Amino acid sequence: MTESIDAKPALSIVTELQSLREIAWFNPNLTSAEEGLKPVGLTRADAEGAEARLQRFAPLLVKAFPETANTGGIIESDLVAAPLMQAELEKTAPILGQLWIKKDSHLPISGSIKARGGIYEVLFHAEKLALAAGLITPSVDYSILLSPECRQFFSQHKIAVGSTGNLGLSIGIMSARLGFQVTVHMSADARQWKKDKLRSQGVIVMEYEQDYGVAVEQGRKGAESDPACFFIDDENSRTLFLGYSVAGLRLPKQLQDKGIIVDADHPLFVYLPCGVGGGPGGVAFGLKLAFGDHVHCFFAEPTHSPCMLLGMSTGLHDGIAVQDIGIDNKTAADGLAVGRASGFVGRAMEQLIDGCYTLSDQSMYDLLAMLDHSEGLQLEPSALAGMRGPHITSAEHAYWVQHGFSAEIMAKSTHLVWATGGGMVPDSEMQRYLAQGKLR
Ligand SMILES: *Cc1c(COP(=O)(O)O)cnc(C)c1O
Repeated sequence: MTESIDAKPALSIVTELQSLREIAWFNPNLTSAEEGLKPVGLTRADAEGAEARLQRFAPLLVKAFPETANTGGIIESDLVAAPLMQAELEKTAPILGQLWIKKDSHLPISGSIKARGGIYEVLFHAEKLALAAGLITPSVDYSILLSPECRQFFSQHKIAVGSTGNLGLSIGIMSARLGFQVTVHMSADARQWKKDKLRSQGVIVMEYEQDYGVAVEQGRKGAESDPACFFIDDENSRTLFLGYSVAGLRLPKQLQDKGIIVDADHPLFVYLPCGVGGGPGGVAFGLKLAFGDHVHCFFAEPTHSPCMLLGMSTGLHDGIAVQDIGIDNKTAADGLAVGRASGFVGRAMEQLIDGCYTLSDQSMYDLLAMLDHSEGLQLEPSALAGMRGPHITSAEHAYWVQHGFSAEIMAKSTHLVWATGGGMVPDSEMQRYLAQGKLR
C-alpha cells in the first residue's frame, strides 16, 4: 500500500524517495485557486488566446491531417467512464466516486498529450513568422499556409527540440508538415519506432547516450549558434504550457455532456502523469481556471524519476535533481524519465496542486494489463501513472478532513485519470508491455 507523508520535514521525504517505495505527498502550501493562480504569471486571457489560435488553425489541420476532420480540425480527446476497471481496482480497496479516463492517448496526429502543447507551439511560431512576412492576416483561412509558396518560406526556417520521444514526435510531425527544417534531439530512452517514424517524415533525429536533460541541453546549444533556428524549450516554455491549458478550459463542456456535475458537493479529482511538468502543469492551470476550488489536481511520477515531488516538497524546484539524492532516473515510462523538473512549472504550481505521488514501473505495467483486460483500452506505461490516484485520495482521511469532504461527498466525486499516451504504439511493442503486467 502507498505510504502517505504530509507535514513532515523535507529531509524525511528525501529519505522516503531514496527508498524507492511508492509514496504520496500532500501539498502543505495549497491555497484557494484565486490565490494560487496569481504566481503563475499567466491569465485566463492567455489561455483563451491559445484556444483562439487553435481555432484559427483548425481549417489548416483538417487539410493537413484528415484524421482531425470529424472534430473540425480541433485536437481533442474523448472522456470515457471506466466501470469495469473500477471494479477491478476495487478488489484491492474501495474507490469513493466514479472513475473516468481522459483519452489523450488517442489524440490525433501524435497519439499523446504532446499533441496539445507541442503542436500548439509549432503553430504559434509558424503564425508569428507568416504574419511578419505578410503571408497571412488573422482573418484569412490559414490553410493557405500549406501552399508550395508558404512551404518554401517555412523551409528557410529551422525548429529544434529535446525530447524523450513524444514531444519530438508531435513537434517533428507538425513542423515537417509545414515545411520547416526540424531536428529532434532524443534521449537514450526514446523508443526506436518513434525515431523511425520521425525519420520517415524527413525529420533529423539526433540520438544521445544520456538522459533527457542532456538531449535538451544539446538541442539548446545547437539552436543558440544558429539565428534561423527556433528552439522549443520543454523546461521553460510558456507557449507549450498554454497549449496544454486549453484542455482544462474545454473540460466543463465535456463533463456537462456526460451529465457529470462538478461543485462543492461533487469534487473533481484529476491525476496527471508528470515528466518535466509542462503537460500536467498546463492542464492543471486550465482546470483551475475552469473549476476553481472544485478541482483537485495530483501529479504522478515513477519511483525512479520523482523530480516534481522532490522539487516541490523541498522547495528547491529546478535547483535539485533526483540524481543528486542518488536516484537513477531509469524508468520504462519514457515520457516521465526526467530527473529535474521545470523550475517555471514547479513554482507556478506551488499553491495549486493538491499533491504528488510515486509508483513503480511494475505498478504501471500491472495497471496497463488490468486496463487492457477490463476495458480493452491499451496505453503506454506512463499513461497509467494516474491510475493509482483514486485509491490514494479515497484512503486518505486526513486529506478529506482538510477539504471538508465527508464520505457522502467523496461518494459523489469524479476521479479523472489523464491517460497521456499510447495510441500510436506499434502492436508488437504493446504485446511486450502487456506481457510485463501481472493480472491478479
Ligand atoms: C510528456 C509526457 C507526460 C508528461 O508531460 P511533461 O510535460 O513532460 O510533464 C506524460 N505522459 C506521456 C505519455 C508523455 O509523453
